[in-house]
Amino acid sequence: MIYADIIVNISHEALDRTFQYIVPEELRDEVDVGAYVRFPFGRGNRPLEGYVLSLGSEPKVAPEKLKALTEVLHDSEFAEGKLIKTAAFIRERYGSTMLQAMRTVFPIRKAMSHKEQKSIRLLLSETEAEPVLETYVKKHRTARERLLRALLENGDLDYRLVTGKLHISTAAINAMQEQGVIGIEVKRVYRNQTVEADVSPAVSLNEEQQRIVTSVSEDYRAGKRGVYLIRGVTGSGKTEVYMEIIDKVLSSGRQVIVLIPEIALTFQTLMRFYRRFGDRVSTLHSRLSEGERYDQFERAKRGEISIMIGPRSALFTPFSNLGLIVIDEEHEGSYKSELSPKYHAREVAIALAGFHGASVLLGSATPSVDSYYAALNGEYRLFTLNRRAKEEARLADVQVVDLREEFRAGNKSMFSRALTDGIEDRLNRNEQVMLFLNRRGLAGFISCRSCGHVIKCPHCDVALSRHGGGTLLCHYCGFSQPDVKLCPECGSPYIGAMRAGTEQIEAQIKKLYPFASTLRMDADTTKHKDDYERILNAFANREADILIGTQMIVKGHDFPYVTLMGILAADMSLYGSDYRATERTFSLLTQAAGRAGRDKREGLVIIQTYHPEHFCIKTAASQDYEAFYREEIAFRKLLHYPPAAHLLVLLAEGKDEEKTESFLRDLAEQVKNVIINNCVDSGIRIIGPAEASLRKLNDVFRYVMYLKGESLQELIRIKDELAAGAGARQDAVRLSFDLDPMNGY
Ligand code: ADP
Ligand code: ZN
Ligand code: ZN
Repeated sequence: MIYADIIVNISHEALDRTFQYIVPEELRDEVDVGAYVRFPFGRGNRPLEGYVLSLGSEPKVAPEKLKALTEVLHDSEFAEGKLIKTAAFIRERYGSTMLQAMRTVFPIRKAMSHKEQKSIRLLLSETEAEPVLETYVKKHRTARERLLRALLENGDLDYRLVTGKLHISTAAINAMQEQGVIGIEVKRVYRNQTVEADVSPAVSLNEEQQRIVTSVSEDYRAGKRGVYLIRGVTGSGKTEVYMEIIDKVLSSGRQVIVLIPEIALTFQTLMRFYRRFGDRVSTLHSRLSEGERYDQFERAKRGEISIMIGPRSALFTPFSNLGLIVIDEEHEGSYKSELSPKYHAREVAIALAGFHGASVLLGSATPSVDSYYAALNGEYRLFTLNRRAKEEARLADVQVVDLREEFRAGNKSMFSRALTDGIEDRLNRNEQVMLFLNRRGLAGFISCRSCGHVIKCPHCDVALSRHGGGTLLCHYCGFSQPDVKLCPECGSPYIGAMRAGTEQIEAQIKKLYPFASTLRMDADTTKHKDDYERILNAFANREADILIGTQMIVKGHDFPYVTLMGILAADMSLYGSDYRATERTFSLLTQAAGRAGRDKREGLVIIQTYHPEHFCIKTAASQDYEAFYREEIAFRKLLHYPPAAHLLVLLAEGKDEEKTESFLRDLAEQVKNVIINNCVDSGIRIIGPAEASLRKLNDVFRYVMYLKGESLQELIRIKDELAAGAGARQDAVRLSFDLDPMNGY
């Protein structure tokens, strides 16, 4: 027997309310997860319709009490059906309940989902209003007087303007309404994100660009769908290629989702899409309220828009006939959800595209090692754009400065001599400078300022981090050793954790160049809604000479007057305590280098580092992605890190440290049993358990264990068995999974 769990109403309140029905023999072939079906409901067997959430062979009540569903409706082509399939994919792959997965995929419908625009209108003619105004004056009803005067002068007024800016109480407004002086009008408006822009024609593509467009669109016309990866330096015209292909897909009557990392979702980028496609475009970003997000999705469902641009959650836009998903800057860490289920937008996009019969187009200057690996294996089709699209735009020169030499020469400041010379020179020429402090993955690794030596785990080749109680710890395997006072390599006492903040750098710069004006962009200065945009615009308008910031400044905007980019501590992210640290650093450095010299002016990039000989620094300096990839993939293969294998993180969190740790140790035993019982080829390795780098968070202790294995299917099977067992056994400890993590634990 096969039983189907059916959901009647896709709304957050009802997501966990499913009904079980028997799938009759003759419908078995048609009923799949996501199918839209009809079934008899309640005593009267009222016919209802709903979606199949899951299928199984276990009845939840006595089987004779279950009814059979009656029909598969051909509306199963609905967007919802495909999103339910996507939820099922997420559940299985990343380890969560179906309910959690459904909550990820379907946005919350807020009770007040439609914004109302209230306005106040004068119901009297001017002559009728005259005596009313006089009485208000006489009786000192100043609020009413002010409102009436404002209405006489301006006509209709926005309700919120009246209560806010004019400081008129609702009591006064109500009183005037009762008197019949004013009326309140309520208009329903959709919270629309579209921007007015004149539609402008496309640029004419160069030969390299055209070749990509032709290949992809020929495939598309021939009904071939696939995953395409464009590797092209910043400014090589990837966005123009996306837009040209999008145009073709739209004219075939299908819809398009464009994913862009939140941080690159700038006004500039959006305007390019609006200019090209007009009001068929809509956007999502994390600052929309749940209600606003819901509205955008409703518009997509009604077919009012056909392109949705946004960060990873834009993937769940309910388009009914998706033709293409574009993922720009596909290497970005933000495509992976940091909340459970920890899905990766690229993988989910590929699955979703499969359900729709759509293609996926990935683009990046520095593709993720995962995608490049897939491309070289023939899973994705690879294209490259080798030149910048604008003739005059050149790649900047890159100079690497060895901070160990600076240190030995007695320069203990954060700025090398080359960098201070460079800044001075730019200030004299009235050009702009960007200073990038690479704080990513700042896990407090220990390094020597004199020789650059970094203390690493002998087993995992990742940096050890300093830990309370005078020890250094590996957060993968739990290896620990005593803290060091002298560098084991050169004996220097200048060994410790690297620390510096953007604030300190700004202070130093102000001291060195009192006449230069600076802007700072980091988490502290971008707390409010429009801060990011405001700072970038101010810099673009040359209101400051020097912009200091974290990785936020590395992406997006073109600044024609920036001719020097200083990278202050290239190493800071090189030794983060996870296996993707080098990849992240390479991509940050390459992008940072791409910021200088985006126009006619010659650009210079100065990379300050303790490890000029490290392949990541060398290949970033020569902007040689291929060389970087070759070294990095060799390392991943050697140590069985993704994409050469899969890595499943098991995170246990609990208030009782002892229990949390022993829970994972038990789990390790269980994994061994699963492997033995199922005769799984034990290419699977268990690493840990060890305490997480963030051992305690809000009084909850965190322990991690890793499973490494070549077969994704086997890891998923083990995960499912563990999840089933863990749920039944332990309440005090919460277990969650992260497949192929993007960050350290
Ligand atoms: P990417 O997305 O790779 O960073 P863009 O598509 O943003 O590159 O292109 C960079 C700049 O070059 C943009 O100003 C764009 O309008 C321009 N551009 C792109 N392709 C062409 C072309 N074929 N002819 C002229 N200008 C182009
Ligand atoms: Zn040393
Ligand atoms: Zn280790």
